Amino acid sequence: MKFLIIGGDAAGMSAASRAKRSMPEMAVTVLEMTHDVSYSACGMPYNIADPEKAIEDLVVRQADVFRQKQGIDLLTGHRADSINPEQKTVAGVTQQGEKFESPYDKLLIATGGSPIVPDLSGFDLPGVLALKSLDHGRKIKAYIDSHNVKKAVIIGMGYIGLEMSESLRARSIEVAMVKPNPRFLPWIAGELSGVVQKEVEANGVNLHMGHLVQKIEPATGGLAVVCEDLTLDADMVIVAIGITPNSECAIVAGLETGIKNAISVDRGLKTSDENIYAAGDCADAYHVVTGEKTWIPLALRANRAGWAVADNICGKPAELEGVAGTSVFKVFDLQVARTGITSKEAVKSGFDSADVVIKTRSRAHAHPGSTTIQVHLIGDRKSGRLLGAQMVGKEGVAHRINAVAVALHAQMTVEQFSQTDLAYAPPFSPVWDPLLTAANQLLKRM
Ligand SMILES: Cc1cc2nc3c(=O)[nH]c(=O)nc-3n(C[C@H](O)[C@H](O)[C@H](O)COP(=O)(O)OP(=O)(O)OC[C@H]3O[C@@H](n4cnc5c(N)ncnc54)[C@H](O)[C@@H]3O)c2cc1C
Repeated sequence: MKFLIIGGDAAGMSAASRAKRSMPEMAVTVLEMTHDVSYSACGMPYNIADPEKAIEDLVVRQADVFRQKQGIDLLTGHRADSINPEQKTVAGVTQQGEKFESPYDKLLIATGGSPIVPDLSGFDLPGVLALKSLDHGRKIKAYIDSHNVKKAVIIGMGYIGLEMSESLRARSIEVAMVKPNPRFLPWIAGELSGVVQKEVEANGVNLHMGHLVQKIEPATGGLAVVCEDLTLDADMVIVAIGITPNSECAIVAGLETGIKNAISVDRGLKTSDENIYAAGDCADAYHVVTGEKTWIPLALRANRAGWAVADNICGKPAELEGVAGTSVFKVFDLQVARTGITSKEAVKSGFDSADVVIKTRSRAHAHPGSTTIQVHLIGDRKSGRLLGAQMVGKEGVAHRINAVAVALHAQMTVEQFSQTDLAYAPPFSPVWDPLLTAANQLLKRM
């Protein structure tokens, strides 16, 4: 059995390692176009914040460990360009320009995603950088040092843009952020979004919402980010407007794709071809709340999907339940978390949505150090089901969101959730946990 994998990061290396552990006799080959494998992309903003740290610190397992200790044929500097499903081969080119062709019995596409860079003038200028791969992180660090960056513009205000704003402020770099949507974090209730906006501005970041970037131009001593009615000067520009799945190979090979061109997979991660699987940011998933297909590119799903592919190939049938879109990020002193669907998404999916926003304390009344926690909880009037939550606060948000995620996987109603026995002690929560207070309030609106 020849198991071939395209892509050597979270999904690809998880699959390779697990397959080799389950069936040591299996020939496992990984084609990775860069020289970086198995690294924590999620740690990059924090690494960039610290000039003393090497970006290589983020490598979880070195390429040679996979090769020598695990017996995986890991071919770095090998870019896969096309898949021939009839002949069961993958063709590509090495970094030295040599063509290669690799046969497979089972193939996993784990090519991840690429940062979206608009096709506008100036986005290819030196100093205009995106952040996805380890090499992007390497380039940003090198550029900050070599150009003595004092001023940066971040295009986009998603979680990576916001993490980068904190990272650059930590290096005393002046930061401005710009985006076309007039709302700051449009996926959470205004009250919660306002708290995050205040925190970002209080830390010296200048926010420019409602401005569509038209071009980037070279300017005296740096760059100018030009909008219709606003021009922002910068030494460096970070483009953080989202990613797109790397699915071109799959599309050309005739595999089915879905939302945003992500490769369409079933619950066992199989594509429309019997012998080809896809996992991670390049593939879609089922949403546990809506039951519909979704595309939410996050790390846990990539690792878990890689494992499931390995299990399926090794004869241990595995089907994944799906994703709830649970995520959390830190921006300065705040934790911002979400799981499930938003009110807007609930309406779109045909739910009769009810929601509530509550403001409470992170610790018991009169316990020192208590801070504010805000919770936005969403339910469905028709079925009574809990549909999603978003939370903002200085403490107790990051892991508290997991309780809602578990409830969503269990398809709990708001009433059942309001009856859960959540922990209490004064340093950690009020006696009524913020989630229970939100559930009790939401019940009144259902
Ligand atoms: C700055 C940043 C912060 C993040 N923070 C978080 C977080 O806090 N929490 C979270 O859950 N997620 C986070 N993520 C997302 C997370 O990193 C991804 O979901 C995860 O890395 C996806 O893994 P993957 O294996 O699907 O894809 P990738 O990690 O993108 O790996 C794909 C690999 O395939 C290779 N490849 C692509 N095309 C080819 C080809 N044709 N031939 C050969 N090789 C190819 C690429 O070089 C790459 O190494 C963050 C991402 C970034 C960029």
